[in-house]
Amino acid sequence: MLNDREAGTQFKVWDMQDLDAIPFWNKGRAILIGDAAHAMTPMQGQGGNMAIEDAKAFTLFGPEVTANEVPDILSKIDSIRRPRTKVVLESTRQTMPNTKMADRVERMDFINSYNGIRRALDELETANRLEVAASKM
Ligand SMILES: Cc1cc2nc3c(=O)[nH]c(=O)nc-3n(C[C@H](O)[C@H](O)[C@H](O)COP(=O)(O)OP(=O)(O)OC[C@H]3O[C@@H](n4cnc5c(N)ncnc54)[C@H](O)[C@@H]3O)c2cc1C
Repeated sequence: MLNDREAGTQFKVWDMQDLDAIPFWNKGRAILIGDAAHAMTPMQGQGGNMAIEDAKAFTLFGPEVTANEVPDILSKIDSIRRPRTKVVLESTRQTMPNTKMADRVERMDFINSYNGIRRALDELETANRLEVAASKM
């Protein structure tokens, strides 16, 4: 505990830094998640939130998963989580202490619209199917 005399004389200055989006998170049966994959400043209070969403994506591992299936599942996690956290990182970089509340709320719409990895994979698959169909027209 600091006494009154010491208070205000002992402090440290910490530099806030983030991590540029990286090209892939997974290799074989390993994957990065959380700050190791997408550290961002706390301007939108989303670093921990994104880490929790990453962790929740591991529900794609059912009880019967074999070792051979792991790389494919990790690729699916990467295909959803990496683009999403890149958007949040970019949005966080544009958020300053004086950013207007309306702008913050608009950005939160994207953050709040995530319905989990399974729904996101379904949406991605539908979008890909539509794109293939459109290219054949
Ligand atoms: C000031 C501030 C305010 C924030 N506010 C918010 C907020 O309001 N909302 C929000 O969602 N997020 C917020 N965040 C971000 C949030 O704290 C992080 O995004 C989150 O903690 C990341 O979790 P993590 O598990 O990926 O990493 P960490 O929490 O960093 O956990 C990594 C752990 O690994 C341990 N470790 C490191 N190396 C080794 C090793 N070699 N062996 C074993 N263990 C090791 C570390 O000791 C640590 O315990 C804030 C961050 C800061 C700095």
